[in-house]
Amino acid sequence: MNHRNNLNFSGGPGALPESVLLQTQQAVLEVPEVGLSILGISHRSDWFAAVISELENNIRKLLGLPESYHVLLLQGGATQQFSMIPMTLLRGKTSPAEYLHTGYWSGKALAEARREGPIRVLWSGESSGFRRLPDDSELAYSPNAPYLHYVSNETVEGLQFHRLLGRDDVPRVCDMSSDFLSQPCAAEQFSLIYAHAQKNIGPAGVTVVLVRDELLKDAPSDLPGYLNYRNHIDAHSNFNTPPVFAIYVVLLVTRWLIQEIGGLTHMAEINRNKAELLYRLLDSSDGFYRGRAEPKDRSLMNVTFNLPDAKIEQQFLDESLAAGFSGLAGHRSIGGVRASIYNGLSLPAVEKLLGFMQDFQRSHRAAKLP
Ligand SMILES: *Cc1c(COP(=O)(O)O)cnc(C)c1O
Repeated sequence: MNHRNNLNFSGGPGALPESVLLQTQQAVLEVPEVGLSILGISHRSDWFAAVISELENNIRKLLGLPESYHVLLLQGGATQQFSMIPMTLLRGKTSPAEYLHTGYWSGKALAEARREGPIRVLWSGESSGFRRLPDDSELAYSPNAPYLHYVSNETVEGLQFHRLLGRDDVPRVCDMSSDFLSQPCAAEQFSLIYAHAQKNIGPAGVTVVLVRDELLKDAPSDLPGYLNYRNHIDAHSNFNTPPVFAIYVVLLVTRWLIQEIGGLTHMAEINRNKAELLYRLLDSSDGFYRGRAEPKDRSLMNVTFNLPDAKIEQQFLDESLAAGFSGLAGHRSIGGVRASIYNGLSLPAVEKLLGFMQDFQRSHRAAKLP
């Protein structure tokens, strides 16, 4: 077979560690302990029950998650959570839930919440083109909100909160889809965290939900079966046929985080090093590469930038693709360039991109000399 070995800088699905891919390849043929392909192992088998329980324990261990939280593995992506959360926490409420509108994904979440009950947009970055996040002085939280919802890392715009938001007496609900398990996250400060797998921790098809038991005490009991968190808690994430393959790959990624990386503090260090390399290049390029996000709010996962004009930008995208860098085109909603550098994308891959960017700038500058 002819391998092109392209590097995956896409916003999602993201790159996975090579050791995980090799084990996945083996598992598609045969999971050694079972003697069957992962694609045909029963979700009712003892083996799969052990997979769920090891994955749950690994997530607890990585995040230091207390027993008062449930770890759920659901389907429907982060998008399903945009609805399930307000269905559970907002129906019939009179005080509004508070939503931060910091970019593309938080906008999607709040539009779904509006269908279920009252919401208040606490702050919106729309008028400033989602180039920055709010300071604490711009956020006047209400003590009566049923919950506060925000997105920890805006994948499209490349904005990331580097602090905890909200008040301790209002449940914090957070979409961590694009930075989950990329760093420690003070999980016990949140009442509900959700993250689909396909950015940092696996293939599409499974969404991790961490929910504090107490948050569900007044949840409606008449929701459709799949949309009721209690059913998934009672069934240990085996309420209907779960995505066995996707869940198994996420298990392999958590093993990699624990055994090969050595935990989230070390993962965060590696991720910070990767991001710093790229941001340093942007900042020292004499305005050739222009970072999109305000420096204090820059994402360690999605590095977004523009080039001097649309023509050079297109040339950059075409040439980078031809050179084996896949997925650098910015999200269709804003264009530009986005280098997504999730957990599975290695430091050497970022160094290669850096080399390409330096060469591109040099050759472009040279071409422009009289
Ligand atoms: C990609 C993304 C989503 C969308 O998730 P789906 O699994 O496609 O529903 C939601 N939130 C954030 C922050 C994302 O990055």
